[in-house]
Amino acid sequence: MKRKEPSSKEKHIVYMNSAGFCAFPTCSKKLVEKANSKDDAAVLGELAHIVADKRQGPRGGDVLSEEDRAKHPNLILLCTEHHTIIDTQHRTYSVAVLRQMKADHENRVNQALSKAVPVPPIPLVNEKIQSTVLPITALPQAVFSAPCAFGESEYDQVKSRVQHPKRIKENDPYILTPFVLKDGRLFAFQDLSQPNPFSAVIDSNKTRHHRATEMWADQDWKKVYVNLLNRSLYKYAGGLQVRYDPEHKRFYFPVLEEGVERSVVYKSPNRAEQPRQVAWEPKFKHDGSGKGFWYHLAAGIRFHQIDDLQWCLSIRPERHLTKDGTVPLPSDKIGRKVTKLKARMYNDKYFTEIVFWRDFLSKGMPRFSFDYGNQKTVVDIQLITFDVEWAGIPGDEKLFKNEIYEDDLFTLSERSDSLSGEELEWEEWEDEAVSDTATAF
Ligand SMILES: [Zn+2]
Repeated sequence: MKRKEPSSKEKHIVYMNSAGFCAFPTCSKKLVEKANSKDDAAVLGELAHIVADKRQGPRGGDVLSEEDRAKHPNLILLCTEHHTIIDTQHRTYSVAVLRQMKADHENRVNQALSKAVPVPPIPLVNEKIQSTVLPITALPQAVFSAPCAFGESEYDQVKSRVQHPKRIKENDPYILTPFVLKDGRLFAFQDLSQPNPFSAVIDSNKTRHHRATEMWADQDWKKVYVNLLNRSLYKYAGGLQVRYDPEHKRFYFPVLEEGVERSVVYKSPNRAEQPRQVAWEPKFKHDGSGKGFWYHLAAGIRFHQIDDLQWCLSIRPERHLTKDGTVPLPSDKIGRKVTKLKARMYNDKYFTEIVFWRDFLSKGMPRFSFDYGNQKTVVDIQLITFDVEWAGIPGDEKLFKNEIYEDDLFTLSERSDSLSGEELEWEEWEDEAVSDTATAF
């Protein structure tokens, strides 16, 4: 009978299933001897046949076919010593004993190595995510429209004819009168069928009533509604001497007197009034001379609908730049001064500025509102937070433990959609611009 040599693949299967150790139960000798300074590594193991490849060999009388004698189930990995023992004492080490020995060894290998290595559990950290948005707690539930003698291009004509409600008492709120012209009609939050600021330019008898929730459901009508909100904000901000720059779609602090830097006093809830520089010419450190351009605090402030009924107001701090406090800096001169915000998730300067805007707009009150007479828009100043439980980064405890708001521990999560457009490189201005905030709170 011709001896059949096991293929390389069959041999590999046995080496692998045995993990390189002698299968003899009391041995567990590793069958690779490491190299030393004089010699290469050595293979000490041997593949032994359970049923010999030849009839006259150890256990060779078994019925196993010649073909199967060269297959991996019939091969067992042993050290030289145990190979000799099983072939010499082949009546003790019968086919059944050796098959069991092989199975036991391969099971041991599996049990030791196939389990996933236990990984220490990742510590979860409870945190509040601080958003950059303020919740809107009340909105006009109705919009009114009436035919208007002026077309969409005649906004200024209408504006000059609006009769602003007079304040009777000193503490009466200013009534805001935003309006939109569309399709030959004037849209406003005031009930146009009643005495109203627009009576000089509309036909009050043909007033229509539009439900806010229905307007929000349609993109075109939603635009009308958001325009009314935006115009409320322009008017409200105007009352605080903050101007809207339509080119860059942002609010900014203009100077009040040509060439004179501007500061405002603002108040955070439960804190004393603070001064804050809002328009200034940065100076060279070495001689205090001006750098030839001006910074103005600015912010993109926008209304967003976040679900069927909930709206919010987002604040995105920016900078407005001018040549001299008044004339906008040509965009090719802005260059590096205003660039995209670098990825700075945890920038307390950014947050400080959001807090400044909301406290300035709310005049230190817990909320601020746009009053239309019978309806109003109310913005709460509690920045929306989210409770999250997530994998903490060991040792990462920096975040916002600044001295500003001890009662608000927060991380700042920037919404990618609020980061489009011009932003600034904070390092550029922070030493000069906000040196006052370190002591401001
Ligand atoms: Zn052995």
